[in-house]
Amino acid sequence: MHIKCDKCNATENWPSDTRLYCYYEGELALGLDLDDAPIIDMMCQTSWCYSCEQIVITEYLVPKEQIESVIESLSSDIEEFEKSLKNVTSRIDKRRLSLRIKYRLRSIERYKYISDRTVGRKQIYLNCGTPGKHEPLSEFLKHGVHVGCGGRWKESGIIGGGSCYRLPLYLYDFNAEFLGVATSENEGPYLVTEVKGA
Ligand SMILES: [Zn+2]
Ligand SMILES: [Zn+2]
Repeated sequence: MHIKCDKCNATENWPSDTRLYCYYEGELALGLDLDDAPIIDMMCQTSWCYSCEQIVITEYLVPKEQIESVIESLSSDIEEFEKSLKNVTSRIDKRRLSLRIKYRLRSIERYKYISDRTVGRKQIYLNCGTPGKHEPLSEFLKHGVHVGCGGRWKESGIIGGGSCYRLPLYLYDFNAEFLGVATSENEGPYLVTEVKGA
């Protein structure tokens, strides 16, 4: 996806660095196999960086006051699925419902786990080092002005297709410290290829 200025047609693209971001609790060492390691996916969002004037990826931390309602809504989904589960007979439907329940249970766990460990700290600006002002892109697009031109940034176009190969993992601890990178060669296991400070 990209955004386009409605006056001068300038465009800004989504960050092209295709990475996955995760939390990792523990020590990294070069060559360490992370395939069965307790890695937790980070929730991310696209944001506008006012210093770089471009779209960047930031960590998304569900606001503390929203955690309860997110968990409530997931729990009520689970209740619904459990009710339906009693009434379906086909094996496929049963399996589908069971999976939905399982994923939501896992999400609840993850929300709790992450929010307990990140409470009170700022989000990580993942591919932009500047500590300046960032705003979720959806918010920015409601008012964002192309600096020096005066036009408005508008959403424009979707880039189709995702990559299916195993993207590099960028690992952080819960205190927002970058730990290192793990990569997978030819769909093989994720091995640590970069350790911060090593
Ligand atoms: Zn413009
Ligand atoms: Zn920036």
